[in-house]
Amino acid sequence: MTHGSYNPYENAQSQFDRVAEIIGLDEATRVLLRQPMKEYHFTIPVHMDDGSTKVFNGYRMQHNDARGPAKGGIRFHPQETVDTIRALSMWMTWKCAVVDIPLGGGKGGIICDPRNLTENEQERLCRGWVRQLAKNVGPFIDVPAPDVMTNGKHMLWMLDEFELIHGGRFPGFITGKPVGMGGSLGRTEATGYGLIYTVREALKSFAMRIENTSASIQGFGNVAQYAAKLYQELGGTVVAVSSWDNTDKKAYTFRKKSGLDIPALFSITDPFGSIDKNKAGDLGCEILPEDAWIEEEVDILIPAALENQITLENVGKISKQVLLIAEGANGPINTDADEIIRKSGMFVIPDFLANAGGVTCSYFEQVQSNANYYWEKDEVLQKLDAQMTSAFKAVKETAKKHDLYMRDAAYVISINRVAQAVKMRGWV
Ligand code: GLU
Repeated sequence: MTHGSYNPYENAQSQFDRVAEIIGLDEATRVLLRQPMKEYHFTIPVHMDDGSTKVFNGYRMQHNDARGPAKGGIRFHPQETVDTIRALSMWMTWKCAVVDIPLGGGKGGIICDPRNLTENEQERLCRGWVRQLAKNVGPFIDVPAPDVMTNGKHMLWMLDEFELIHGGRFPGFITGKPVGMGGSLGRTEATGYGLIYTVREALKSFAMRIENTSASIQGFGNVAQYAAKLYQELGGTVVAVSSWDNTDKKAYTFRKKSGLDIPALFSITDPFGSIDKNKAGDLGCEILPEDAWIEEEVDILIPAALENQITLENVGKISKQVLLIAEGANGPINTDADEIIRKSGMFVIPDFLANAGGVTCSYFEQVQSNANYYWEKDEVLQKLDAQMTSAFKAVKETAKKHDLYMRDAAYVISINRVAQAVKMRGWV
């Protein structure tokens, strides 16, 4: 979403330009990679339950598919913008490249608020999105997945519509499907768990024990929930989480200095990640203002809500105790705030590395779906851990070797891989 003057696409392009300069990328490759190669903009008329018809705007951006079919989620959000989806499609390309899976980058969205739509309306919306795109997506072209406010239920409706149109069963068309219906065990946990695997590796590299650390998390959606769960299971203390309240139209921070009970918080959270603040008091939580999560005296900050959350206005509120920021969301730190964080020497695990666990597990799901043979959960999570750990180590090593900020080091790896693919294909 764009807020005020912030534009995530400009942010994504300036991050790219900076590293294209560092590695001396040629002009044609720069032009090719700093924008999506294909964009689809379309309307989706939906018959509403009250008999009226509402027209929604839908999108799919395919940034690059030189390394494999485009891959990325579909977001449902009232403030969704074209430029946000462009930026996110670009980040997907770098994300798949940094974890070295054979997929490209894509992202889709519908401007809508699913919280105000009935189940039937959501189903018709999902089917409408697929009808407009059925010829331009598919297991070997572009493979969608869940993202902000979409889940397995939406993916299955989309798969069903795709299969109706194409006349067959193509479970590899979409990922994040429910387990038992082509989904992979571990996919729900994958993004949050993957993030904590990278945090664990970072702490190891500072010779710190996770048991002696504390964290504050922004958001309590899928990524934040499973990050909090695994971090706590490994011995860390989650001091605060923030969560959007859809009645009050603002977020609150829920804090318990001795450590929040994450499974108990799960039980009072709705499917969109909103914690019931009337029940939070019973769990011993203090209910604080929206931005309180960023001011906590903790070792680790995990922004895992939306883009553009750490800005010039609040970056100064970060406690001196914080030594690590792991970006669970895509683009949570804006360009200006990132400059300050970069200079402060704080260690950042950049978004497209930190949250790559989701798409990595989506890749495993696609492999399982295409083979129609499904793995045990332990096997999925072990493979996920191995992939995330080795990607983290490679980025850390590059950062060390060339004295780079972690974000730039991750970009160096990804851009080089994608640039090599477009060159080998003879595109530039
Ligand atoms: N939406 C997730 C992301 O931004 C997952 C994408 C996928 O699994 O394709 O990484």
